[in-house]
Amino acid sequence: MNSSYSTLRLILGDQLNANHSWYKEKDNSVLYVVAELHQEQKYVKHHVQKIQAFFAAMESFSTALTKAGHDVIHLTLDDTEGQTLDDVIIELVRRFNVNQFQYQQPDEYRLAEQLSKISHDYLNNIEVFSTEHFFLEQSELKNYFKFNTAHRMEAFYRKLRKRFNILMDGDEPVGGEWNYDSANRNKMKQADIEKVPQPLQFTNDVSTINARLKKHNISTIGTGGNSLLWPINRSQAKELLAFFLDNCLPLFGYYQDAMVYENNDTSSSLWSLYHSRVSFALNAKMLSPGYVIKQAITKYQNSDKVSVEQIEGFVRQILGWREFVRGIYWINMPSYKSLNGLSATNDLPDYFWDGNTKMACMSQAIKQSLTTAYAHHIQRLMVTGNFALISGLHPDQVDDWYLGIYIDAIEWVELPNTRGMSQFADGGLLASKAYAASGNYINNMSDYCKNCHYNVKLKTEDNACPFNALYWNFMVEHENKFKSNPRQSMVYRNWEKKTDADKDALLQRADWILKNINKI
Ligand code: FAD
Ligand code: SF4
Repeated sequence: MNSSYSTLRLILGDQLNANHSWYKEKDNSVLYVVAELHQEQKYVKHHVQKIQAFFAAMESFSTALTKAGHDVIHLTLDDTEGQTLDDVIIELVRRFNVNQFQYQQPDEYRLAEQLSKISHDYLNNIEVFSTEHFFLEQSELKNYFKFNTAHRMEAFYRKLRKRFNILMDGDEPVGGEWNYDSANRNKMKQADIEKVPQPLQFTNDVSTINARLKKHNISTIGTGGNSLLWPINRSQAKELLAFFLDNCLPLFGYYQDAMVYENNDTSSSLWSLYHSRVSFALNAKMLSPGYVIKQAITKYQNSDKVSVEQIEGFVRQILGWREFVRGIYWINMPSYKSLNGLSATNDLPDYFWDGNTKMACMSQAIKQSLTTAYAHHIQRLMVTGNFALISGLHPDQVDDWYLGIYIDAIEWVELPNTRGMSQFADGGLLASKAYAASGNYINNMSDYCKNCHYNVKLKTEDNACPFNALYWNFMVEHENKFKSNPRQSMVYRNWEKKTDADKDALLQRADWILKNINKI
């Protein structure tokens, strides 16, 4: 390492893109800094595996850059104690007589603001670069999104399919349809459950990271030992993707919405079913969305096991949903973060932190999340998210929970999914309807209800599924918002067909549940 450098380049924990143009040439007048920051452990309480995974991936990235001949300083929590990100940068600028500071545009509004405010007294030469990760540059988002305006993923997705020529046959979509979602709503039968592949899990040693977390009293949620199952470098991330393409893509879309009751430990094969689990690798930028999509399409083209329904379903999640929620986030921040369109005010029940509830679906989704830092999309949307929505839980508390617990949770992707898609707190900027459902939906897509204390068929009895009364109570409470929505008006016609006695009993049962929400 030199005693002085002309340029300091910051690499944030979610900017581990080895293919970035920064690294194309070795330049020993440039010092790269990768830093474990105390501020990043405290803005929300994170799952222990999430911190382990980010720290291990950052360390591994620094080592790889150093081996490739770049000058890198890797700072641990020991080195950065008592310092903010600004302090770390300013200290390095002074220590190495740096005259230029460069960083990649953060994906989180909070960090983008913090970096844009770094004092020009210390740094008068600051340059911001693209992360070279997404399909759309951040500066292009304004061409696709308008502030405080409703947008729909499908229209956006089609534009991107055409623009980037993905799964296109000339001007037409491959297979003739743009979207095969309707083919993707199958429940798993016992025989299907037995065929689910054992998920590929790594055994990365994170004992030194655990020691640092302990030494610095970093408070976490969830469980995590000295061996981490998540990928921590590009080579492991590619291995995980290859495993998915070989073993899961052929049935990915088919069972995308299915949920299966299991034992909540990582030795079970059922905690991720046919999902890819590449969200952490993508969000930390170890893999690019372009690379993942290209590999998946190559598999589709070379394998007779992957149908067009499966590949389209997978591409839509990444080219469609992932880029779409980012656009909604950036065009609407910072006000998006405090939207509460349904005026929800209730507190998160205690079982969100330990899974100890008699509701099998909630217990399953929460305990699995605490054990693995993962739940798949329908568990997040239609179990925990749905419950929070129909129970009127405050979106700030719901957001904090999702932002902390999942391995892939970074605000730009977590916030629109939670506050927008799941809690409808943005009044429909992202979703065309509130994803509220009774127990019937969960029973259709899972075997949870068979394993539950409650009876999904009952509505008002003491052992009736809580989702049933809560659902009707929610729809009635927000009738003025939803009745005119063509996707939800049918619900009100069904409500009107009920007798007054049935209506009263449902609302009374919901009232009891809400007053006793910690006991159910
Ligand atoms: P797969 O099912 O295999 O899908 C493939 C990839 O598509 C994912 O890795 C992801 O990159 C992308 N994708 C799929 N759905 C979405 C979506 N709705 N938004 C953005 N990308 C998507 N995803 C996150 O990455 N971080 C979050 O913090 C996050 N929070 C969520 C909170 C709620 C309430 C909900 C309903 C969804 C959230 N999602 C989040 C979206 C989605 O649930 C996860 O991306 C997915 O479960 C990750 O698992 P996977 O990699 O196995 O995904
Ligand atoms: Fe969940 Fe209700 Fe089914 Fe129990 S009966 S698992 S609470 S949907």
